[in-house]
Amino acid sequence: MLSALKVKLTYSIKLNTIQALKLSELKQDELGQWRRTHYSYEVNVSLTGREVIVMGWVSTIRDHGNTQFIVVRDRYSDVQVVAKKSECTEQVFEQIRQLREHTTLAVRGKVRSQQKAANGAEVIPLELKIFSIAKKAAPFLVQSKTLSVGIDTRLNLRAVDLRRNVLQSVFHIRHTTLNTIRDFLVKQGFIEINTPKMIATATEGGATLFPIFYYDREAFLAQSPQLYKEQLTMAFENVFEIGPIFRAEPSRTNRHLSEATSIDVEQAFVDYNDIMSLLERMISHIVDSIKEKNSNDLDCLGLELPNINLPFPRHSYSNLINKLQAIGETIKWGDDLSPQIMKNLPDETMNAFYFITDWPTAVKPFYVKPKSVGSERLCESFDLMYRSLEISSGSTRINRKDDLLERMRKQGLNTQAFDYHLRVFDYGVPPHAGFGVGLERLLMALTAIENIRDVTLYPRDIDRLTP
Ligand code: ATP
Ligand code: MN
Repeated sequence: MLSALKVKLTYSIKLNTIQALKLSELKQDELGQWRRTHYSYEVNVSLTGREVIVMGWVSTIRDHGNTQFIVVRDRYSDVQVVAKKSECTEQVFEQIRQLREHTTLAVRGKVRSQQKAANGAEVIPLELKIFSIAKKAAPFLVQSKTLSVGIDTRLNLRAVDLRRNVLQSVFHIRHTTLNTIRDFLVKQGFIEINTPKMIATATEGGATLFPIFYYDREAFLAQSPQLYKEQLTMAFENVFEIGPIFRAEPSRTNRHLSEATSIDVEQAFVDYNDIMSLLERMISHIVDSIKEKNSNDLDCLGLELPNINLPFPRHSYSNLINKLQAIGETIKWGDDLSPQIMKNLPDETMNAFYFITDWPTAVKPFYVKPKSVGSERLCESFDLMYRSLEISSGSTRINRKDDLLERMRKQGLNTQAFDYHLRVFDYGVPPHAGFGVGLERLLMALTAIENIRDVTLYPRDIDRLTP
Protein backbone atom coordinates (compact mmCIF):
# COMPACT_ATOMS: atom_id res chain seq x y z
CA MET A 1 0.00 0.00 0.00
CA LEU A 2 2.74 2.40 1.08
CA SER A 3 4.87 1.63 -1.93
CA ALA A 4 1.88 2.01 -4.25
CA LEU A 5 1.29 5.44 -2.72
CA LYS A 6 4.94 6.30 -3.22
CA VAL A 7 4.80 5.34 -6.88
CA LYS A 8 1.67 7.42 -7.28
CA LEU A 9 3.27 10.43 -5.58
CA THR A 10 6.49 10.34 -7.59
CA TYR A 11 4.34 9.93 -10.64
CA SER A 12 2.22 13.00 -10.04
CA ILE A 13 5.17 15.14 -8.96
CA LYS A 14 6.91 14.18 -12.16
CA LEU A 15 3.81 15.10 -14.13
CA ASN A 16 3.65 18.54 -12.55
CA THR A 17 7.27 19.25 -13.36
CA ILE A 18 6.70 18.14 -16.91
CA GLN A 19 3.64 20.25 -17.32
CA ALA A 20 5.73 23.24 -16.32
CA LEU A 21 8.23 22.54 -19.09
CA LYS A 22 7.79 23.41 -22.69
CA LEU A 23 7.58 20.27 -24.83
CA SER A 24 9.61 21.98 -27.50
CA GLU A 25 12.63 21.71 -25.27
CA LEU A 26 12.83 18.02 -26.24
CA LYS A 27 13.79 17.42 -29.83
CA GLN A 28 12.53 14.37 -31.76
CA ASP A 29 15.11 12.39 -33.67
CA GLU A 30 15.15 10.14 -36.72
CA LEU A 31 16.13 6.49 -36.43
CA GLY A 32 18.88 7.09 -39.05
CA GLN A 33 21.71 4.57 -38.81
CA TRP A 34 21.04 3.57 -35.20
CA ARG A 35 20.09 -0.06 -34.65
CA ARG A 36 19.43 -1.90 -31.45
CA THR A 37 22.44 -3.96 -30.38
CA HIS A 38 20.78 -5.73 -27.45
CA TYR A 39 17.33 -6.47 -26.13
CA SER A 40 16.69 -5.59 -22.49
CA TYR A 41 17.10 -9.17 -21.29
CA GLU A 42 20.50 -9.40 -22.99
CA VAL A 43 21.95 -6.53 -20.97
CA ASN A 44 23.69 -8.43 -18.17
CA VAL A 45 26.96 -8.46 -16.21
CA SER A 46 28.83 -10.21 -18.97
CA LEU A 47 28.56 -6.96 -20.96
CA THR A 48 30.07 -4.81 -18.20
CA GLY A 49 32.08 -1.97 -19.71
CA ARG A 50 30.69 -2.56 -23.20
CA GLU A 51 28.70 -0.04 -25.21
CA VAL A 52 25.14 -1.00 -26.19
CA ILE A 53 22.14 0.54 -27.91
CA VAL A 54 18.79 -0.34 -26.35
CA MET A 55 15.46 0.73 -27.81
CA GLY A 56 11.93 0.78 -26.48
CA TRP A 57 9.65 3.03 -24.54
CA VAL A 58 9.85 4.59 -21.10
CA SER A 59 7.89 2.49 -18.64
CA THR A 60 8.81 4.21 -15.36
CA ILE A 61 10.65 7.29 -14.21
CA ARG A 62 12.16 8.11 -10.83
CA ASP A 63 13.53 11.57 -10.21
CA HIS A 64 16.08 11.71 -7.36
CA GLY A 65 17.42 15.19 -8.08
CA ASN A 66 20.98 14.56 -9.18
CA THR A 67 20.16 11.04 -10.29
CA GLN A 68 17.45 10.10 -12.77
CA PHE A 69 16.29 6.51 -13.12
CA ILE A 70 14.31 5.45 -16.15
CA VAL A 71 13.18 2.01 -17.09
CA VAL A 72 13.16 1.28 -20.81
CA ARG A 73 10.85 -1.50 -21.88
CA ASP A 74 11.04 -3.47 -25.10
CA ARG A 75 8.98 -6.38 -26.35
CA TYR A 76 10.64 -8.75 -23.91
CA SER A 77 11.33 -6.94 -20.65
CA ASP A 78 12.90 -3.93 -18.92
CA VAL A 79 16.34 -2.40 -18.63
CA GLN A 80 17.29 0.30 -16.15
CA VAL A 81 19.05 3.45 -17.36
CA VAL A 82 20.71 5.60 -14.70
CA ALA A 83 21.72 9.18 -15.38
CA LYS A 84 23.85 10.79 -12.70
CA LYS A 85 24.70 14.45 -13.08
CA SER A 86 28.33 13.62 -12.35
CA GLU A 87 28.47 10.85 -14.96
CA CYS A 88 26.79 12.08 -18.10
CA THR A 89 26.74 15.17 -20.27
CA GLU A 90 24.49 18.04 -19.32
CA GLN A 91 22.48 17.50 -22.50
CA VAL A 92 21.78 13.82 -21.82
CA PHE A 93 20.92 14.52 -18.19
CA GLU A 94 18.50 17.27 -19.23
CA GLN A 95 16.89 15.10 -21.90
CA ILE A 96 16.32 12.31 -19.41
CA ARG A 97 14.95 14.70 -16.83
CA GLN A 98 12.28 15.79 -19.26
CA LEU A 99 11.13 12.32 -20.34
CA ARG A 100 7.75 10.97 -19.48
CA GLU A 101 6.13 7.55 -19.58
CA HIS A 102 5.52 6.05 -23.02
CA THR A 103 8.09 8.18 -24.85
CA THR A 104 9.78 5.99 -27.47
CA LEU A 105 13.53 6.23 -27.56
CA ALA A 106 16.98 4.70 -28.03
CA VAL A 107 19.76 4.90 -25.48
CA ARG A 108 23.39 4.43 -26.39
CA GLY A 109 25.29 3.76 -23.21
CA LYS A 110 27.76 1.77 -21.20
CA VAL A 111 26.80 -1.31 -19.22
CA ARG A 112 27.66 -1.35 -15.53
CA SER A 113 27.02 -4.13 -13.07
CA GLN A 114 24.30 -3.29 -10.60
CA GLN A 115 23.08 -5.96 -8.20
CA LYS A 116 19.72 -4.29 -7.66
CA ALA A 117 18.81 -4.07 -11.35
CA ALA A 118 17.25 -6.76 -13.53
CA ASN A 119 19.93 -9.19 -14.82
CA GLY A 120 22.40 -7.48 -12.47
CA ALA A 121 23.24 -4.69 -14.91
CA GLU A 122 22.21 -1.17 -15.85
CA VAL A 123 23.06 1.31 -18.60
CA ILE A 124 24.86 4.64 -18.14
CA PRO A 125 23.61 6.83 -21.00
CA LEU A 126 26.07 8.47 -23.41
CA GLU A 127 23.60 9.61 -26.05
CA LEU A 128 19.81 9.53 -26.55
CA LYS A 129 17.57 9.49 -29.58
CA ILE A 130 14.00 10.41 -28.80
CA PHE A 131 11.80 9.06 -31.58
CA SER A 132 8.47 10.27 -30.34
CA ILE A 133 7.60 12.20 -27.25
CA ALA A 134 4.60 11.08 -25.25
CA LYS A 135 2.44 14.19 -25.18
CA LYS A 136 0.02 13.08 -22.52
CA ALA A 137 0.07 11.00 -19.38
CA ALA A 138 -1.79 7.72 -19.91
CA PRO A 139 -4.71 7.19 -17.53
CA PHE A 140 -2.98 4.04 -16.23
CA LEU A 141 0.54 3.11 -15.16
CA VAL A 142 2.56 0.86 -17.44
CA GLN A 143 3.79 -1.30 -14.58
CA SER A 144 0.44 -1.74 -12.84
CA LYS A 145 -0.40 -5.38 -12.45
CA THR A 146 -4.15 -5.12 -12.18
CA LEU A 147 -6.88 -4.58 -14.72
CA SER A 148 -8.67 -2.31 -12.25
CA VAL A 149 -8.88 0.86 -14.37
CA GLY A 150 -12.29 1.04 -16.10
CA ILE A 151 -12.33 -1.16 -19.18
CA ASP A 152 -13.71 1.54 -21.48
CA THR A 153 -10.93 3.96 -20.54
CA ARG A 154 -8.41 1.26 -21.36
CA LEU A 155 -10.04 0.07 -24.57
CA ASN A 156 -10.18 3.63 -25.87
CA LEU A 157 -6.36 3.62 -25.73
CA ARG A 158 -5.96 -0.08 -26.37
CA ALA A 159 -2.52 -0.13 -28.00
CA VAL A 160 -1.12 1.78 -25.02
CA ASP A 161 -3.01 -0.42 -22.59
CA LEU A 162 -1.45 -3.45 -24.28
CA ARG A 163 2.00 -2.28 -23.23
CA ARG A 164 1.16 -3.28 -19.67
CA ASN A 165 2.57 -6.43 -18.01
CA VAL A 166 -0.68 -8.25 -17.46
CA LEU A 167 -1.93 -7.83 -20.98
CA GLN A 168 1.46 -8.64 -22.49
CA SER A 169 1.25 -11.94 -20.63
CA VAL A 170 -2.32 -12.63 -21.72
CA PHE A 171 -1.45 -12.13 -25.38
CA HIS A 172 1.76 -14.14 -25.14
CA ILE A 173 -0.42 -16.97 -23.86
CA ARG A 174 -2.82 -16.39 -26.77
CA HIS A 175 0.12 -16.69 -29.17
CA THR A 176 1.25 -19.99 -27.64
CA THR A 177 -2.33 -21.27 -27.75
CA LEU A 178 -2.69 -20.57 -31.47
CA ASN A 179 0.72 -21.99 -32.35
CA THR A 180 0.08 -25.14 -30.35
CA ILE A 181 -3.29 -25.66 -32.02
CA ARG A 182 -1.76 -25.39 -35.50
CA ASP A 183 1.12 -27.64 -34.58
CA PHE A 184 -1.16 -30.23 -32.95
CA LEU A 185 -3.71 -30.38 -35.75
CA VAL A 186 -1.12 -30.51 -38.52
CA LYS A 187 0.55 -33.45 -36.74
CA GLN A 188 -2.86 -35.15 -36.56
CA GLY A 189 -3.12 -34.90 -40.35
CA PHE A 190 -5.31 -31.79 -40.72
CA ILE A 191 -4.87 -29.15 -43.38
CA GLU A 192 -5.47 -25.46 -42.76
CA ILE A 193 -8.23 -23.82 -44.79
CA ASN A 194 -9.85 -20.40 -45.12
CA THR A 195 -13.48 -20.03 -46.14
CA PRO A 196 -15.49 -17.00 -47.32
CA LYS A 197 -16.56 -14.45 -44.75
CA MET A 198 -18.98 -12.72 -47.12
CA ILE A 199 -21.87 -15.09 -47.68
CA ALA A 200 -25.28 -15.20 -49.32
CA THR A 201 -27.37 -17.00 -46.70
CA ALA A 202 -27.36 -17.79 -43.03
CA THR A 203 -25.29 -20.80 -42.02
CA GLU A 204 -27.56 -21.85 -39.22
CA GLY A 205 -30.65 -19.68 -39.60
CA GLY A 206 -31.44 -17.24 -36.85
CA ALA A 207 -31.31 -13.48 -36.59
CA THR A 208 -27.69 -13.12 -35.55
CA LEU A 209 -26.29 -12.11 -38.95
CA PHE A 210 -24.76 -8.78 -39.92
CA PRO A 211 -26.09 -7.69 -43.32
CA ILE A 212 -23.63 -5.98 -45.69
CA PHE A 213 -23.76 -4.43 -49.16
CA TYR A 214 -22.32 -6.78 -51.77
CA TYR A 215 -22.31 -4.72 -55.00
CA ASP A 216 -26.03 -4.44 -55.76
CA ARG A 217 -27.14 -7.25 -53.45
CA GLU A 218 -27.59 -7.87 -49.78
CA ALA A 219 -25.11 -10.30 -48.27
CA PHE A 220 -24.00 -11.24 -44.76
CA LEU A 221 -20.90 -11.65 -42.65
CA ALA A 222 -20.38 -15.34 -41.87
CA GLN A 223 -21.47 -16.44 -38.40
CA SER A 224 -19.46 -19.68 -38.79
CA PRO A 225 -17.52 -21.60 -41.48
CA GLN A 226 -19.75 -24.62 -40.74
CA LEU A 227 -21.10 -25.58 -44.16
CA TYR A 228 -17.86 -24.85 -46.02
CA LYS A 229 -15.70 -26.87 -43.66
CA GLU A 230 -18.16 -29.76 -43.93
CA GLN A 231 -18.00 -29.60 -47.74
CA LEU A 232 -14.22 -29.56 -47.67
CA THR A 233 -14.13 -32.95 -45.91
CA MET A 234 -15.20 -34.29 -49.34
CA ALA A 235 -11.95 -33.12 -50.84
CA PHE A 236 -9.43 -33.04 -47.99
CA GLU A 237 -10.97 -35.26 -45.27
CA ASN A 238 -9.44 -33.44 -42.28
CA VAL A 239 -9.56 -29.65 -42.22
CA PHE A 240 -9.28 -26.77 -39.77
CA GLU A 241 -9.74 -23.04 -39.93
CA ILE A 242 -8.78 -20.31 -37.49
CA GLY A 243 -10.70 -17.20 -38.42
CA PRO A 244 -13.28 -14.60 -37.47
CA ILE A 245 -16.96 -15.29 -36.89
CA PHE A 246 -19.50 -12.48 -36.79
CA ARG A 247 -22.58 -12.52 -34.59
CA ALA A 248 -25.04 -9.74 -33.97
CA GLU A 249 -25.42 -10.51 -30.29
CA PRO A 250 -27.96 -8.05 -28.96
CA SER A 251 -27.20 -8.65 -25.29
CA ARG A 252 -24.37 -7.18 -23.26
CA THR A 253 -22.56 -10.05 -21.55
CA ASN A 254 -18.99 -10.74 -20.48
CA ARG A 255 -18.76 -13.72 -22.83
CA HIS A 256 -20.13 -12.49 -26.18
CA LEU A 257 -18.31 -10.50 -28.87
CA SER A 258 -19.76 -9.35 -32.20
CA GLU A 259 -16.51 -10.50 -33.82
CA ALA A 260 -14.85 -13.53 -32.27
CA THR A 261 -12.09 -15.93 -33.36
CA SER A 262 -13.20 -19.46 -34.01
CA ILE A 263 -11.08 -22.59 -34.18
CA ASP A 264 -13.07 -24.83 -36.47
CA VAL A 265 -12.22 -28.48 -37.03
CA GLU A 266 -13.91 -31.03 -39.26
CA GLN A 267 -12.86 -34.64 -39.80
CA ALA A 268 -14.11 -37.35 -42.19
CA PHE A 269 -14.88 -40.99 -41.26
CA VAL A 270 -15.26 -40.36 -37.49
CA ASP A 271 -18.09 -39.57 -35.07
CA TYR A 272 -18.54 -37.21 -32.13
CA ASN A 273 -16.77 -39.54 -29.68
CA ASP A 274 -13.57 -39.40 -31.76
CA ILE A 275 -13.93 -35.64 -31.96
CA MET A 276 -14.35 -35.21 -28.19
CA SER A 277 -11.18 -37.23 -27.76
CA LEU A 278 -9.34 -35.04 -30.30
CA LEU A 279 -10.56 -31.86 -28.61
CA GLU A 280 -9.56 -32.89 -25.09
CA ARG A 281 -6.12 -33.92 -26.29
CA MET A 282 -5.77 -30.57 -28.04
CA ILE A 283 -6.66 -28.71 -24.81
CA SER A 284 -4.21 -30.83 -22.86
CA HIS A 285 -1.44 -29.99 -25.36
CA ILE A 286 -2.22 -26.29 -25.09
CA VAL A 287 -1.96 -26.36 -21.29
CA ASP A 288 1.32 -28.28 -21.46
CA SER A 289 2.92 -25.88 -23.90
CA ILE A 290 1.79 -22.79 -21.97
CA LYS A 291 3.42 -24.31 -18.87
CA GLU A 292 6.57 -24.87 -20.88
CA LYS A 293 6.76 -21.61 -22.83
CA ASN A 294 5.00 -19.03 -20.67
CA SER A 295 6.22 -19.58 -17.12
CA ASN A 296 7.11 -15.87 -16.78
CA ASP A 297 3.66 -14.88 -17.98
CA LEU A 298 2.03 -17.30 -15.55
CA ASP A 299 4.08 -15.72 -12.74
CA CYS A 300 3.12 -12.24 -13.84
CA LEU A 301 -0.56 -13.16 -13.82
CA GLY A 302 -0.23 -15.12 -10.58
CA LEU A 303 -1.92 -17.88 -12.46
CA GLU A 304 -2.27 -21.59 -12.02
CA LEU A 305 -3.54 -23.31 -15.14
CA PRO A 306 -6.60 -25.56 -14.94
CA ASN A 307 -5.88 -29.15 -13.93
CA ILE A 308 -6.12 -31.49 -16.88
CA ASN A 309 -7.06 -35.13 -16.42
CA LEU A 310 -7.90 -37.10 -19.52
CA PRO A 311 -10.53 -38.06 -20.40
CA PHE A 312 -12.64 -35.05 -19.38
CA PRO A 313 -15.82 -35.98 -17.48
CA ARG A 314 -18.82 -36.56 -19.76
CA HIS A 315 -22.32 -35.79 -18.49
CA SER A 316 -25.34 -36.45 -20.63
CA TYR A 317 -27.77 -33.58 -21.05
CA SER A 318 -30.65 -35.68 -19.65
CA ASN A 319 -28.63 -36.55 -16.59
CA LEU A 320 -27.88 -32.91 -15.85
CA ILE A 321 -31.55 -32.01 -16.21
CA ASN A 322 -32.37 -34.69 -13.64
CA LYS A 323 -29.67 -33.37 -11.31
CA LEU A 324 -30.90 -29.79 -11.67
CA GLN A 325 -34.49 -30.83 -11.02
CA ALA A 326 -33.34 -32.79 -7.96
CA ILE A 327 -31.88 -29.64 -6.42
CA GLY A 328 -35.13 -27.78 -7.04
CA GLU A 329 -34.28 -25.80 -10.21
CA THR A 330 -37.25 -25.02 -12.46
CA ILE A 331 -36.01 -26.49 -15.71
CA LYS A 332 -37.60 -29.05 -18.02
CA TRP A 333 -36.19 -31.47 -20.54
CA GLY A 334 -35.66 -29.58 -23.80
CA ASP A 335 -34.61 -26.27 -22.22
CA ASP A 336 -31.18 -24.82 -22.94
CA LEU A 337 -28.64 -24.89 -20.08
CA SER A 338 -27.77 -21.29 -19.23
CA PRO A 339 -24.59 -20.37 -17.32
CA GLN A 340 -26.82 -18.98 -14.55
CA ILE A 341 -28.44 -22.35 -14.00
CA MET A 342 -25.22 -24.36 -14.42
CA LYS A 343 -23.65 -22.37 -11.58
CA ASN A 344 -26.07 -24.09 -9.19
CA LEU A 345 -24.71 -27.57 -9.85
CA PRO A 346 -22.64 -28.72 -6.85
CA ASP A 347 -20.82 -31.49 -8.68
CA GLU A 348 -17.03 -31.43 -8.13
CA THR A 349 -16.44 -32.46 -11.73
CA MET A 350 -17.88 -29.12 -12.92
CA ASN A 351 -14.83 -27.38 -11.50
CA ALA A 352 -12.79 -27.61 -14.67
CA PHE A 353 -13.30 -28.85 -18.25
CA TYR A 354 -16.13 -31.34 -18.92
CA PHE A 355 -18.47 -32.35 -21.74
CA ILE A 356 -22.25 -32.19 -21.87
CA THR A 357 -23.29 -34.85 -24.39
CA ASP A 358 -26.38 -36.05 -26.23
CA TRP A 359 -28.45 -32.88 -26.44
CA PRO A 360 -32.08 -32.76 -27.59
CA THR A 361 -32.09 -32.67 -31.39
CA ALA A 362 -34.48 -29.72 -31.34
CA VAL A 363 -32.03 -27.31 -29.64
CA LYS A 364 -29.11 -28.03 -31.98
CA PRO A 365 -28.63 -26.80 -35.60
CA PHE A 366 -30.08 -28.69 -38.56
CA TYR A 367 -26.80 -30.31 -39.64
CA VAL A 368 -26.33 -32.19 -36.34
CA LYS A 369 -26.96 -35.92 -36.66
CA PRO A 370 -29.79 -37.41 -34.59
CA LYS A 371 -29.08 -40.66 -32.74
CA SER A 372 -30.19 -43.94 -34.29
CA VAL A 373 -33.80 -44.83 -35.06
CA GLY A 374 -35.91 -44.95 -31.93
CA SER A 375 -33.95 -42.26 -30.08
CA GLU A 376 -33.92 -39.44 -32.65
CA ARG A 377 -35.05 -36.88 -30.11
CA LEU A 378 -31.42 -36.95 -28.95
CA CYS A 379 -28.48 -36.09 -31.19
CA GLU A 380 -24.80 -37.01 -31.38
CA SER A 381 -23.64 -33.72 -29.96
CA PHE A 382 -21.58 -32.18 -27.18
CA ASP A 383 -20.65 -28.89 -25.60
CA LEU A 384 -17.22 -28.52 -24.02
CA MET A 385 -17.64 -26.51 -20.83
CA TYR A 386 -15.24 -24.87 -18.41
CA ARG A 387 -17.23 -24.48 -15.22
CA SER A 388 -20.35 -22.63 -16.39
CA LEU A 389 -18.75 -21.23 -19.55
CA GLU A 390 -19.34 -22.83 -22.96
CA ILE A 391 -16.01 -23.25 -24.78
CA SER A 392 -17.06 -25.34 -27.78
CA SER A 393 -19.93 -27.10 -29.52
CA GLY A 394 -19.45 -30.15 -31.69
CA SER A 395 -21.27 -33.10 -33.18
CA THR A 396 -21.50 -35.83 -35.73
CA ARG A 397 -22.98 -34.23 -38.85
CA ILE A 398 -25.65 -35.49 -41.21
CA ASN A 399 -23.99 -36.72 -44.43
CA ARG A 400 -27.08 -37.73 -46.48
CA LYS A 401 -29.12 -35.23 -48.45
CA ASP A 402 -32.59 -36.61 -47.57
CA ASP A 403 -31.87 -36.55 -43.86
CA LEU A 404 -30.55 -33.01 -44.13
CA LEU A 405 -33.61 -31.84 -46.06
CA GLU A 406 -35.91 -33.35 -43.46
CA ARG A 407 -34.10 -31.62 -40.59
CA MET A 408 -34.13 -28.30 -42.44
CA ARG A 409 -37.87 -28.50 -43.02
CA LYS A 410 -38.49 -29.39 -39.37
CA GLN A 411 -36.52 -26.26 -38.38
CA GLY A 412 -38.53 -24.14 -40.80
CA LEU A 413 -35.55 -23.26 -43.03
CA ASN A 414 -35.92 -22.31 -46.70
CA THR A 415 -34.19 -25.27 -48.37
CA GLN A 416 -33.89 -23.42 -51.70
CA ALA A 417 -31.57 -20.87 -50.12
CA PHE A 418 -29.21 -23.73 -49.32
CA ASP A 419 -29.10 -25.15 -52.82
CA TYR A 420 -25.42 -24.25 -53.21
CA HIS A 421 -24.73 -26.47 -50.22
CA LEU A 422 -27.21 -29.28 -50.78
CA ARG A 423 -26.05 -29.98 -54.33
CA VAL A 424 -22.69 -31.40 -53.24
CA PHE A 425 -24.54 -34.05 -51.24
CA ASP A 426 -25.33 -35.73 -54.57
CA TYR A 427 -21.64 -36.62 -54.88
CA GLY A 428 -20.74 -38.63 -51.80
CA VAL A 429 -20.26 -36.66 -48.60
CA PRO A 430 -18.32 -38.85 -46.13
CA PRO A 431 -19.53 -39.45 -42.56
CA HIS A 432 -17.90 -36.63 -40.60
CA ALA A 433 -17.84 -34.81 -37.30
CA GLY A 434 -16.28 -31.65 -35.93
CA PHE A 435 -16.29 -28.78 -33.46
CA GLY A 436 -15.90 -25.01 -33.18
CA VAL A 437 -13.96 -23.57 -30.23
CA GLY A 438 -14.23 -19.89 -29.35
CA LEU A 439 -10.59 -18.84 -28.94
CA GLU A 440 -11.47 -15.96 -26.59
CA ARG A 441 -13.66 -18.25 -24.46
CA LEU A 442 -10.80 -20.73 -24.21
CA LEU A 443 -8.45 -17.91 -23.15
CA MET A 444 -10.92 -16.82 -20.46
CA ALA A 445 -10.79 -20.36 -19.08
CA LEU A 446 -6.98 -20.56 -19.29
CA THR A 447 -6.22 -17.12 -17.83
CA ALA A 448 -9.11 -16.88 -15.32
CA ILE A 449 -10.09 -13.54 -16.84
CA GLU A 450 -13.81 -12.88 -16.55
CA ASN A 451 -14.44 -10.29 -19.25
CA ILE A 452 -13.99 -11.55 -22.81
CA ARG A 453 -12.95 -8.02 -23.87
CA ASP A 454 -9.74 -8.33 -21.87
CA VAL A 455 -8.55 -11.34 -23.88
CA THR A 456 -9.37 -9.64 -27.21
CA LEU A 457 -7.02 -7.15 -28.86
CA TYR A 458 -9.74 -4.88 -30.26
CA PRO A 459 -13.10 -6.13 -29.00
CA ARG A 460 -16.30 -5.49 -30.91
CA ASP A 461 -19.63 -5.42 -29.11
CA ILE A 462 -23.01 -3.76 -29.41
CA ASP A 463 -21.57 -0.50 -28.02
CA ARG A 464 -18.10 -0.56 -29.55
CA LEU A 465 -16.87 -0.32 -33.13
CA THR A 466 -13.60 1.58 -32.44
CA PRO A 467 -10.66 1.52 -32.08
P1 ATP B 1 -23.50 -19.24 -26.53
O1 ATP B 1 -24.66 -20.16 -26.24
O2 ATP B 1 -22.49 -19.20 -25.43
O3 ATP B 1 -23.90 -17.89 -27.01
P2 ATP B 1 -23.42 -20.62 -29.04
O4 ATP B 1 -23.88 -22.00 -28.63
O5 ATP B 1 -24.39 -19.70 -29.65
O6 ATP B 1 -22.73 -19.90 -27.77
P3 ATP B 1 -21.89 -21.85 -31.13
O7 ATP B 1 -22.72 -21.51 -32.30
O8 ATP B 1 -21.98 -23.20 -30.55
O9 ATP B 1 -22.16 -20.74 -30.01
O10 ATP B 1 -20.38 -21.46 -31.50
C1 ATP B 1 -19.25 -22.29 -31.19
C2 ATP B 1 -18.35 -21.62 -30.15
O11 ATP B 1 -17.99 -20.29 -30.58
C3 ATP B 1 -19.03 -21.41 -28.81
O12 ATP B 1 -18.96 -22.57 -28.01
C4 ATP B 1 -18.22 -20.27 -28.24
O13 ATP B 1 -17.02 -20.75 -27.67
C5 ATP B 1 -17.87 -19.44 -29.46
N1 ATP B 1 -18.78 -18.31 -29.62
C6 ATP B 1 -20.00 -18.32 -30.18
N2 ATP B 1 -20.54 -17.10 -30.18
C7 ATP B 1 -19.64 -16.27 -29.61
C8 ATP B 1 -19.60 -14.87 -29.35
N3 ATP B 1 -20.62 -14.09 -29.67
N4 ATP B 1 -18.51 -14.35 -28.77
C9 ATP B 1 -17.47 -15.16 -28.45
N5 ATP B 1 -17.43 -16.48 -28.68
C10 ATP B 1 -18.51 -17.05 -29.26
MN1 MN C 1 -22.94 -23.82 -28.80
